[in-house]
Amino acid sequence: MKIQNCPDCKSKLKKVQIKIEDAETKAISYQCPNCDYFIFEPETTLKIIEEIKTKESPLKIKQKIIKLSKDRLGMYFNKDIIESLNLKSGEEILVSVPNKKKVVLDIC
Ligand SMILES: [Zn+2]
Repeated sequence: MKIQNCPDCKSKLKKVQIKIEDAETKAISYQCPNCDYFIFEPETTLKIIEEIKTKESPLKIKQKIIKLSKDRLGMYFNKDIIESLNLKSGEEILVSVPNKKKVVLDIC
């Protein structure tokens, strides 16, 4: 985007990067040093909206624990989880239990 002049007072707009919480990309805005006018660059703004959306909606799937043998239980990974994590049979994962309500699986 080309830096333009302020439509209100015709001063040259200043490019300013703004850190947005939960987004990797910094927002780029053009601010007028003379009056209150400012605009956000549309392309980076769209990218940031996508980044925030992805963080807000992690994959959450309800699954049933299944019985494998006498004292072992198991769980399937469905197609959505396999595809989003690119899991393959035989791969190792690290299981940790941070509290009595949570099981965390880390891909090694
Ligand atoms: Zn201005």
